Amino acid sequence: MTKILGIIGGGQLGMMITEAAKKMPEEISKVIVLDPTKDCPASQAGATQIIADFKDRDAIIKLAELADIITYEIESGDSSVLKSVQGAAEINPSPETLEIIQDKYKQKSFLQNHDIPVSEFVEIQGMSDIITGLETFGYPALLKARRDAYDGRGNFKIESKDDIQKAWDYFDDKSLLLERFVPFSMEVSVIAARNTRGQIKTYPLVENIHKENILRETIAPARVSQSISKKAEQIAVKTLSVLKGAGTFGIEMFVTHDEILINEIAPRVHNSGHHTLQSSETSQFEQHLRAILGLELGSTRLLYNSIMFNVLGSDEFTGRYSPLEISGAGVFLKMYGKKVSKPLRKLGHVNIVGINAESVDELLAKLDTIKPNVAVEPI
Ligand code: AMP
Repeated sequence: MTKILGIIGGGQLGMMITEAAKKMPEEISKVIVLDPTKDCPASQAGATQIIADFKDRDAIIKLAELADIITYEIESGDSSVLKSVQGAAEINPSPETLEIIQDKYKQKSFLQNHDIPVSEFVEIQGMSDIITGLETFGYPALLKARRDAYDGRGNFKIESKDDIQKAWDYFDDKSLLLERFVPFSMEVSVIAARNTRGQIKTYPLVENIHKENILRETIAPARVSQSISKKAEQIAVKTLSVLKGAGTFGIEMFVTHDEILINEIAPRVHNSGHHTLQSSETSQFEQHLRAILGLELGSTRLLYNSIMFNVLGSDEFTGRYSPLEISGAGVFLKMYGKKVSKPLRKLGHVNIVGINAESVDELLAKLDTIKPNVAVEPI
């Protein structure tokens, strides 16, 4: 029986889930997205749109009435509203899983309680907790908002005593945690999926390069030893087996000289998994649908080395921009249909795929020649 899929959030992730859904007409007859922006990326890909805020109770209830199964592309949905509509539609990952992940303190405590390695952290309720925490962790340390923070926007790095007051003022009454600074040698992630029947599969470990807290490049596979890749994938499998949610997850980790620590989990398809669109036997978007529909998970084999490069809005302007033109063998440009560019806004990505058995170094050299064409210019 075909199902109607509801997605909370209709940005680029919702767009690529919609495109994957359209290739599965025997399983999914229609996609409805809930998103506040008229003509959002997912609606441009053929989804029907309910225009409302992600946390709008009535809109979520309406979505649950219309859809058989609900998923999300953002983690800031209201888990209590989602819980209340659980009878009307199946929700995956479950609101219970979402609730753990949405709160960084709960998420880290959950992982720690299951013996999954994370950096040391403490809950902060007042200035005195920061001072005590810094005595234990030393400088630098990161003060983080527990909720509604992504792309590093909820972090303040405390470098010295002089920053304590600034860090406290920056957050203005939010619930916080303090984390020990991890001197990592590499940031990596594992895209992992668990289906509703408990089957788990992981994609090979990838390497992520961030600047100003925004992901710039993903290199698949990560340039690490086999033992590190294997260990990271085992951590991801253990995480999904205790979390019990169904869907595709992005599990971000730090590699240090002697350990691998989870930084954070995204309960959804992830930017560092976009390369799978051309590099892997099954894309992370199809995998997500297979997982939430309870189908057998697809192969996660990496067919080609690959680099994903994000097309970000220029720092120089906000406004309409000229179309990009990038092509070539093994070069795949995907734009998200966003009309307006803003500084650092994710407008699209380019996958550079080693279809002729190129090494990662060769692909990196190719990326250097392509980068000048990826500049976003005002129209
Ligand atoms: P987050 O939003 O918490 O994922 O953090 C954004 C970025 O800040 C990460 O990708 C890291 O580059 C950096 N970061 C976060 N937590 C830590 C930490 N405990 N130690 C070192 N760097 C961190």
